Amino acid sequence: MSTLKAVRGTRDLLPPETALWNRIEATARSVFARYNFGEIRTPVFEDTTLFARGVGEETDIVSKEMYTWEDRARAQSEKTQSLTLRPENTAGVVRAYIEHGLGESGQLQKLYYIGPQFRRERPQKGRYRQFSQIGAEVIGPPSAGSESPLRDAEILEMLATLLDELGITGWTLHLNSVGSSADRERYNQALRAALVPVVAQMCPDCQRRAETNPLRVLDCKVPADQPVIDTLPVIADSLDEASQAHFAQVTAALDAAGVPYTRNHRLVRGLDYYTRTTFEFTHGGLGAQNALLGGGRYDGLSEMLGGPRAPGIGFAVGEDRLVLTLLALENTQQDEKAAAFVAPLGEALNAAALALARELRRSGLRIELGEGSFRLKKSFEAADKTARQIVILGEDELQSGILTVKNFSTGIQTKVPRAELAVFLLNSGQSLEPEGGRSTPGAPLVVPPARIQKNAIHK
Ligand code: AMP
Repeated sequence: MSTLKAVRGTRDLLPPETALWNRIEATARSVFARYNFGEIRTPVFEDTTLFARGVGEETDIVSKEMYTWEDRARAQSEKTQSLTLRPENTAGVVRAYIEHGLGESGQLQKLYYIGPQFRRERPQKGRYRQFSQIGAEVIGPPSAGSESPLRDAEILEMLATLLDELGITGWTLHLNSVGSSADRERYNQALRAALVPVVAQMCPDCQRRAETNPLRVLDCKVPADQPVIDTLPVIADSLDEASQAHFAQVTAALDAAGVPYTRNHRLVRGLDYYTRTTFEFTHGGLGAQNALLGGGRYDGLSEMLGGPRAPGIGFAVGEDRLVLTLLALENTQQDEKAAAFVAPLGEALNAAALALARELRRSGLRIELGEGSFRLKKSFEAADKTARQIVILGEDELQSGILTVKNFSTGIQTKVPRAELAVFLLNSGQSLEPEGGRSTPGAPLVVPPARIQKNAIHK
């Protein structure tokens, strides 16, 4: 019988790498809380129409990459319905905003999410069919200030803070404005006209895009097409005064906050709903899939989904790519050993060892529990692999209340009274790292050792 494996483009995340995932999520939650965001959790599948309307029928995501199926009716009262595993989370958040009348409070809604997304893309390093995004949206009625360029700048400044606190240095913020839909219409015409004399020299995809959606030509990665693309008009020249002023205010606020960016005229992004500000953060350590995160403003999305006018701006960070970046950075500390291994000498001491481990764990220590049937040599070998110290619990130790502790890095053996044991272990090299626990700005992230390399291999 052939063995079953995880489906192509999906993977298992195993400890110790999962500790890094938890740490990233804890840092993100802590940053979002400081900017006064609350968490939203929307369903993993939605009515297919949501994405067709919200993301755009013409996009690669909707036309080629969605996991869609006809969901059979289970009762007469139900209808067979086309459902889709969410390929992104903005459409779901805006659906929820409309469904729950969140705009009725008159306040800005600041919502973040963390969760899996699904796209049938060609898997490669940094690109999976199930991947995780950490994202946020700021959305609300215009009277709440949802159109203000300050919101755009604040989101970008928050992202710079998030990457800093994760310890990710060396990122680049690419910034552009795709204007209003009228601006884009003007730009499309300008592009079409400019493409007529040159399109015959371009790749087949560009020839098709020149017909259907000329903006997409700017996404072309074919090297031979690049010099041609460089001669095309830029969208900045098609922006009306209001869009230009909006962009100028975003950049002025970023300058004031000291957030560096570069203007990237080709950044038009793959989703149809963007208006005005679009952005991407890239990182050199990622290779071909170098986008850490992307986002932008979507002033018309709520109305496209049948809701009230509710301008908004949001982003999605690729969590898988944050992990890859952190693993590649040198300051990522590789350590995930338990503080101590409690080794009972004989099966009769198993119960007492569990009680001792419980005591130590309740003090916040990470403890591995051995097994009394092990010979001492085997306990030492197991302890050396998983913990920094071994605590030996024999009949004498139990009676006297004095335990023997050996530290593997120093080789020193110490007798410690039971009442002082937790403090002793804590001071002799324990890093208290509850998974997904506190996040200290600037502190090195605790990152998994050897097993990671194996896990990081994509399918
Ligand atoms: P998008 O929703 O396409 O704007 O993507 C936002 C971010 O999600 C990207 O910048 C990537 O970091 C990440 N991302 C998108 N697609 C994938 C994928 N197939 N695998 C892993 N990460 C992805």
